[in-house]
Amino acid sequence: MKTIGVIGGMSWESTIVYYRLLNQYTKRELGGHHSSKILMSSVNFAEIEAYQRAGDWDKSAHVLAQEAKKLETAGADFIVIATNTMHKVAADVQAAVSIPLLHIADATALALKENGITHVGLLGTRFTMSQPFYKERLEQHGITVSVPPEWQQDVVHEIIYQELCQGEIKSHSRQQYLAVIDDLQTAGAQGVILGCTEIGLLVQQNHTDVPLYDTTDLHALAAVKLALEKD
Ligand code: GLU
Repeated sequence: MKTIGVIGGMSWESTIVYYRLLNQYTKRELGGHHSSKILMSSVNFAEIEAYQRAGDWDKSAHVLAQEAKKLETAGADFIVIATNTMHKVAADVQAAVSIPLLHIADATALALKENGITHVGLLGTRFTMSQPFYKERLEQHGITVSVPPEWQQDVVHEIIYQELCQGEIKSHSRQQYLAVIDDLQTAGAQGVILGCTEIGLLVQQNHTDVPLYDTTDLHALAAVKLALEKD
């Protein structure tokens, strides 16, 4: 079994979910007392969030690259960045280490393709929805990506930072998300990516008939598959 190197803490509310899923999926595959081999480096999200707000991606890239190096030195076989947004600096993190990085958008695209989804809606932080780094990665897999209009992006973004990353789950916010999801479906999306690792804390498949693709879940599952792959 390979050792998974997780760069977490962005936010820790969703890193907890990664930890649980990595272990649950490993147990599902191997049974008994099997659990995942994990090395985790959990950053101070306040530091990263301040860099995001300032648009200082180079500084955040440096922090995450340092964490990836620590994980490699400690014996990780590959790296998982446990947030969608920080995949903006995935190339810098990958360049800092010689072990592979398992990209969250690739894991998600794989699931979409398996289900025959060619047009998808994307929810995430404003960075993820409005900048090309994430959408382009999905488009490279032949998937068309729709994002909400700017005013809805603001709603989705604020709920992530003001509530979900601080452990607050509110039914009014869930209703707002479900309205955005419905609008994406009306605009032609066959499914919607929960492209922020905290959204699954608020919205789950039982809340809507629109097929949801939870990136936390898909990334954790892909990590376990890779960890259990025979060399
Ligand atoms: N965890 C979130 C994501 O998946 C947002 C927090 C962050 O900016 O890293 O994008």
